[in-house]
Amino acid sequence: MIINKNKLTPMMKQYFAIKEKNPDSILFYRLGDFYEMFFDDAIVASKALEITLTGRNCGLEEKAPLCGVPYHAASKYIEKLVSKGFKIAVCEQVEDPSTAKGIVKREVIRTISPGMIIDPNMISDSKNNYVSCLYFSSDKFGFSYADITTGIIKTTYFNAEDGFIKLIDEINKINPSEIIYDSSLSSEYIDRIPNDYLKTPLDKSYFSLDNCEANISRIFNVFTSDSIGFDNNIALISSSGALLKYIEDTQKVNLKHFTNIDIYSHSDFMILDKFTRRNLEIRETMRSGEKKGSLLWVLDKTKTSMGRRELLTLLEEPLLSVNKINSRLSSVEILVNDLFLRDELRNLLGEMYDLERLSSKLVFGNANARDLLSLKKSISVLPIIKNLLRDFKNSELSSINLNIDALEDMFSLIERSIKEEPPITIKEGGLIKSDYNEEIKELREAIDNGSKWIIDIEKREKEKTGIKTLKIGFNKVFGYYIDVTRANSSLVPTSYIRKQTLANSERYITEELKEIEVKVLGAKEKIVEIEYKIFNEIRKELLNNINRFLNSAKSIAYLDVLCSFAEVSYSSNYVKPIVNTSKNVEIISGRHPVIEKLVNSEEFIPNDTRLDNNENKIYIITGPNMAGKSTYLRQVALITLMAQIGCFVPATKAEIGIVDRIFTRVGASDDLGQGQSTFMVEMSELANILNNATKDSLIILDEIGRGTSTYDGLSIAWAVVEYISEKKENTPKTMFATHYHELTELEGKFYGVKNYRISVNEIDDEIVFLRKIVEGSANHSYGIKVAKLAGLPKEVLNKASEILEKLEKNDINKNINNILNDTSCITKDYTGLSKENDNPSKNQLTFLENDDTLIGKEILDELNLININNLTPMESMNKLFELVKKASGDR
Ligand code: ADP
Ligand code: MG
Repeated sequence: MIINKNKLTPMMKQYFAIKEKNPDSILFYRLGDFYEMFFDDAIVASKALEITLTGRNCGLEEKAPLCGVPYHAASKYIEKLVSKGFKIAVCEQVEDPSTAKGIVKREVIRTISPGMIIDPNMISDSKNNYVSCLYFSSDKFGFSYADITTGIIKTTYFNAEDGFIKLIDEINKINPSEIIYDSSLSSEYIDRIPNDYLKTPLDKSYFSLDNCEANISRIFNVFTSDSIGFDNNIALISSSGALLKYIEDTQKVNLKHFTNIDIYSHSDFMILDKFTRRNLEIRETMRSGEKKGSLLWVLDKTKTSMGRRELLTLLEEPLLSVNKINSRLSSVEILVNDLFLRDELRNLLGEMYDLERLSSKLVFGNANARDLLSLKKSISVLPIIKNLLRDFKNSELSSINLNIDALEDMFSLIERSIKEEPPITIKEGGLIKSDYNEEIKELREAIDNGSKWIIDIEKREKEKTGIKTLKIGFNKVFGYYIDVTRANSSLVPTSYIRKQTLANSERYITEELKEIEVKVLGAKEKIVEIEYKIFNEIRKELLNNINRFLNSAKSIAYLDVLCSFAEVSYSSNYVKPIVNTSKNVEIISGRHPVIEKLVNSEEFIPNDTRLDNNENKIYIITGPNMAGKSTYLRQVALITLMAQIGCFVPATKAEIGIVDRIFTRVGASDDLGQGQSTFMVEMSELANILNNATKDSLIILDEIGRGTSTYDGLSIAWAVVEYISEKKENTPKTMFATHYHELTELEGKFYGVKNYRISVNEIDDEIVFLRKIVEGSANHSYGIKVAKLAGLPKEVLNKASEILEKLEKNDINKNINNILNDTSCITKDYTGLSKENDNPSKNQLTFLENDDTLIGKEILDELNLININNLTPMESMNKLFELVKKASGDR
């Protein structure tokens, strides 16, 4: 539709002027009791919201497309649009329509996008909602992220060469709702960021170094960004400066709750890539995406929302510093051992509300009197918590104690001023205690007196007139009136002025009543006004102290997590791990923290693990399906992870040499439930591991190679083990569960390879799972027996056994030995650390010994012996395979 702006009505002119400044948002234009959307916005929103599209006269020949939502129900519609990835610009009337001259002035007061939500109904309180910002300076990627409801802002950078993959890991870790970036950043990068995240390009000017520097200095109230540790790092300054400006521009508030910025190094934390996080089911299960069944579910005994969010952060950030881990562990140990302390603290924490989100309500100006009471209740426990922690020498506990501000003055301010059980609204009075303010006290007295006078007048008039049913009432139209039933009309004195006639009675006013009314109503109006003013003053005073609230909140969140670790460690019988730089992972009687809670029918069977820097580096784990291989692998990874987040672990003893990364990959067919993993994905994930694992990494491979044909899969699995093993002293600790029994041949031939199997008992052709890991290899995979347990028809089972027998006759192991003997790169017969191949030219020699004509004759002889009618298709394939091999000189 062509729009001639000159012809538009004045209101639509105003609409366009505002819309032009907010081109990428749907404009919610306030018109009376509605938010209206026009033109393209209306077309898009009516579809997305499934509401009617109508039209409105706008001065043009055609009507403007229009749809609208009532203002009081707007949040529901906004939520729906935002969840679909739209941005909403909320445009309000900013002057009183009754006194405005001409068109009412309107302004966009806030822009709401997925990363910019403050409505508590629209976001979870158990996880942070982050908006993040990406900036590429010539040689570094700067990455910053913030939660506008808690005042958290963090920033880090990655070097350009290898940084982008790590940056993506970091993005996946914090899982932002929105990523903003410099619009001039090459799409080559932007396209590599997963599309799960809303990506918003921002004008280049946002990232100008001067502007960003100025923003940072202003918001954190410092002379230069240097003084808070930015160290002239352009990537850090531009990504965080632009992010802060973007938040200011869209939220139109003074960002007082961003009191400090956490400049961190991503290399302080163990990197967990997306697949590992998913496979280990750290925050949610793989299949249903639920918390129940995840590690978080087991570890979460927190009492506050702040603690719950902090736990999630710490779970995603396992530490790499032995000192930091041990210091956290020792504070957890105190809380495990001191039942009284733990219980007291947890009870007190249980009384707290979400201090962080309450504080941010002060920033956004939407805290009501009830919120202030919640604040008061929350901070009332702070001095008691401090007192409990006072005598501990432990560095973590004493620094928590030190960092909690007891906020007694703030408590007293709210205690003195805010009434108990105030209304939700702040504009109708009833908020402020009379004793807090002399004027309010006097006005309340006037109102009370007024009502007393009314009662007195009623009594006096009853007596004077002799009308027993005479009543004094009040309504908004007539104010105070005297109500006399019709039957008594004749007794009414002449001084009464009749105001209203009802079916059964008449209503009158008197001079005296009017006088009182003016006093009382005047007082009521005035009191509302004063209360609102005082309430705002109190909010302002609280806001001025917001950094103190947030500091306490931060320490409380951390304390809550420590208590949660302690509680779960105590109640689930965990042990304090020994964490050091030994390179060993040694676990005695380890358990899977989640499965042990889920298995009901049988008890969880604990298992040991011994990975070291020598001969136990690569576990090849075999055993039938359902034996417990996957469980065992994950339990080792989870115990390592738990130790490095500073929690006790499910074992009787554990020594964990710091692991720099945990990688886990699951073979394609095990992962089909997700409907995502294809063989290709499996392989590219594997490539990522092989390229990035270091000697300090822990690799968990679960049935890798399963997504393709047997020979393909086996060859890849084999080559992977060989590749890892060849790194010798740099070989990462690796656990490989596989149904390729052939891989067990590699023990003793490759450095660090050790065979393990999960034992089963065979009783009368049935198998019983023992769930115990023992050295050695399973001699076959029991697939048919497991199938029998699962109830496959007898005919199928019998046929399968028959086929298996025939296939086994073909003896793949013979081929394996051939390969082992022939492949020149393999160090044969491994006994020491590294032993060169004793005869590298053996392969060639074997080949030279062959006489082509001799082979030809042999093949001919064999062909003559075959009775083609007696062969099954499978047998003929095998025969053909054998002959082809023979023809190529390979016996
Ligand atoms: P696999 O990977 O060998 O096929 P899983 O690890 O998936 O086997 O284990 C199958 C099931 O066996 C698990 O879901 C769990 O119920 C049970 N299980 C595994 N390990 C144990 C154990 N150590 N103790 C008790 N039950 C276990
Ligand atoms: Mg498995």
